Amino acid sequence: MAQEDDHKRTIVYAERALDCLRQYALPAYPRFYEVWYTYAAGFNHALNKAVNDASDSAEHLSSENVQDIYNQFLSPNRLGDRIDKVGTKLSAEIRDMIDRLSQNADIVSEYGNSLEGARNELENLKSPAQLNALVAKLLKATADTAAANSSLEEQLIESREQIEALQESLEAIRHESVTDDLTTLFNRKHFDQSIERMMRHAADTKEPLSLLITDIDHFKQFNDNYGHQTGDQVLRLVAVASKQNVKGKDVPCRYGGEEFAILMPHTTLQQAVSVAEQIRRAVMSKELVKRSTGENLGRITITIGAATMRADDTAHSFIARADKALYAGKHGGRNQVRSESDLEGAKGAPQVA
Ligand code: GH3
Ligand code: MG
Ligand code: MG
Repeated sequence: MAQEDDHKRTIVYAERALDCLRQYALPAYPRFYEVWYTYAAGFNHALNKAVNDASDSAEHLSSENVQDIYNQFLSPNRLGDRIDKVGTKLSAEIRDMIDRLSQNADIVSEYGNSLEGARNELENLKSPAQLNALVAKLLKATADTAAANSSLEEQLIESREQIEALQESLEAIRHESVTDDLTTLFNRKHFDQSIERMMRHAADTKEPLSLLITDIDHFKQFNDNYGHQTGDQVLRLVAVASKQNVKGKDVPCRYGGEEFAILMPHTTLQQAVSVAEQIRRAVMSKELVKRSTGENLGRITITIGAATMRADDTAHSFIARADKALYAGKHGGRNQVRSESDLEGAKGAPQVA
């Protein structure tokens, strides 16, 4: 029974999380528990690395250490906080730039005053010595202004570099907010946003939009036999096979634990089915070898369901058809691609040429 299995699998993580809280005598706040539960489950590699690094460098992990890790990897606000930080730096940089520019405006207007003064003096010149002094004064004012200008230029270049670095941080945050850590595919949040956007676009342009949903066959058994770390390698393998077989505008996502979804604009059902076939073959052609021991783990297979958007679809009904095709493939023996047009009673489905 699925509930019993999930209980057995997850209670182990829960117990390990409590052990860690005891070991470091930490408060058992839900957020601290979440850090250790996630650590025990081992799905969040970046978090596990941060915990290992922190416990390597400190003999005793403190509440602050654990809070930092929570803030960085789990807090629902973590991206928002980083965006705020970048925003604050950016506005400080712009303020500095404005200050520098206005200082420079002062210098330039002073130079204007010197020139104006020199013109007046020229009219009342009485001796070559006076002329000499005037020329010396003008040269100095010009040299000062040029120096101020070149230091401004340097400062502006520096500001530009800072702003470019901040721009890169923002881009990294944006990228992270739509990416699944483990597989580097797009995450579920991005899928949910993309399907709505792409369905609107397909409806407006009357271009076809197709969807593939992939589920790994007997993955639970694989995990139970070889462990989650090896299971994670399999998730990466399926992700790579998906990425390598799609085109530029396609959006391959990790839909859930061991499920993947690919949105394919400008793609008919028949074309989507042929891409799905390529992905299925790519996955089953790989022989899996356990890294740590070199043990041969055989091959894994996937089942894929394909659907194409209909005029009256909602995201929900569109996904449901791809899911139905996927489950037909599971019932039909797995390791296969099924499309909505293979479903019984699929008369309403668009004809595949
Ligand atoms: P089926 O062929 O019918 O799809 O069988 P299955 O065993 O793949 O299906 P089921 O939904 O029962 O099991 C999914 C399993 O996927 C449960 C869990 O062990 C595993 N899983 C889910 N997410 C992750 C993950 O992020 N990493 C790893 N290693 N395993 C995961
Ligand atoms: Mg599943
Ligand atoms: Mg499965």
